[in-house]
Amino acid sequence: MTLTDPLALTAGGPSLPQERRVLTALPGPRSAEILARKSDAVAAGVAHTVPVAAVAAGGGVVVDADGNSLIDLGSGIAVTTVGNAHPKVAAAIAAQAVQFTHTCFMISPYESYVDVAEALNRLTPGDFAKKSALFNSGAEAVENAVKIARKHTGRQAVVALDHGYHGRTNLTMALTAKSMPYKSGFGPFAPEVYRVPGSYPFRDGLSGAEAAARAITLIEKQIGADNLAAVIIEPIQGEGGFIVPADGFLPAVVDWCRDNGVVFIADEVQTGFARTGAMFASEIFGIEPDLITTAKGIAAGLPLAGVTGRAEIMDSAHAGGLGGTYGGNPIACAAAIAAIDVFENDGMLERAAQIGGILTARLEAMRASDPRIGDVRGHGAMVAAEFVDPATGAPDAALTGAVAKAAIAQGVIVLTCGTFGNVIRFLPPLAIGDDLLNEGLDIVAAALAAA
Ligand code: PMP
Repeated sequence: MTLTDPLALTAGGPSLPQERRVLTALPGPRSAEILARKSDAVAAGVAHTVPVAAVAAGGGVVVDADGNSLIDLGSGIAVTTVGNAHPKVAAAIAAQAVQFTHTCFMISPYESYVDVAEALNRLTPGDFAKKSALFNSGAEAVENAVKIARKHTGRQAVVALDHGYHGRTNLTMALTAKSMPYKSGFGPFAPEVYRVPGSYPFRDGLSGAEAAARAITLIEKQIGADNLAAVIIEPIQGEGGFIVPADGFLPAVVDWCRDNGVVFIADEVQTGFARTGAMFASEIFGIEPDLITTAKGIAAGLPLAGVTGRAEIMDSAHAGGLGGTYGGNPIACAAAIAAIDVFENDGMLERAAQIGGILTARLEAMRASDPRIGDVRGHGAMVAAEFVDPATGAPDAALTGAVAKAAIAQGVIVLTCGTFGNVIRFLPPLAIGDDLLNEGLDIVAAALAAA
């Protein structure tokens, strides 16, 4: 890209024409050129799903280097929840960029970091004294939540769930369940991480109480509460397949943690910030986590993450024990303050619920006429369909991949997930219009019918 490249100057944001426009086969010639350079210059491990090079995005579309306009049902994995290049966010970034770009909060603190911490303390569930610390990525937030829990308890063991995903750093790979592609060949992994089954109603058929009892028994017998620093759980599991636990599962685990001096960490990196129709998914299940990790939607695409929780737990790390050169970067904080303003004041919770209504109704209608959709689940604008062999209920990853690929070829960005690779997840930006959302779902339905 050069600065004179006209496509590089395409303005994004909500004023982009809100339409699906497929002018070329994907990738078109310009994207193909960039992707060929990518494969020469970028490590093969950094893969991509949609074969286009983006030049602009906003509302419900991503525009590529050939002028194709794709319907965005992924939000860059649940990040651009308020919409890509949202005008309030873009203005806040620009204003901060000319003020100062960095001092390092550990050297010369600044107000915007404190503003974000105050907002996190206020918005996260739990009416108790809270504190926050800011980092750069979801994985980094998870690492720090575990550090804090270990320091607070003086214990080492950490429990994560089957189907859990917490990142790609060494500790978070250990916490993550799925081997391929996240862990395979990258060990040895961090020690003192244990995995127990959670609640996956479609596949385990257990009530929330039964699933919690199963997990707690394993923890007590195989680890011992006295050795356990923390249990970390995504309230709705994201990468693992948008798994919504049965009612009562999460409260029972939280109660057990509280009774046993174990820190309960809710990893809300994917579920946080209005995505599920609540500000945080923990609210849906009536739990108040001791610590909550956040990232993704918090800053509308700028790298920012947080750990928020009970002040006495957060304060257990000694001065200098937490931080990092860029954590809570001022431009990322400016973006977060603007995004949080949009979440709170521009009807985002209501919009997530409306989008959830459309997604659920459309996918349930598809399921009613096509037994290859075994389950439809989710909350708000975080909904998925699980694809199965109707005869056996076995996961059908091949069908899932084929449907996603066909939808993408038609200009609809959809993402797959799931331990078994048999889930298509829908995470549209909340700035998408109903028409575009329905058109995207029409194309997914047609792709399924044709598969
Ligand atoms: N936790 C959860 C629940 C996530 O969904 C993700 C990212 N998909 C992460 C942690 C890791 O976040 P990041 O990629 O920003 O490190």
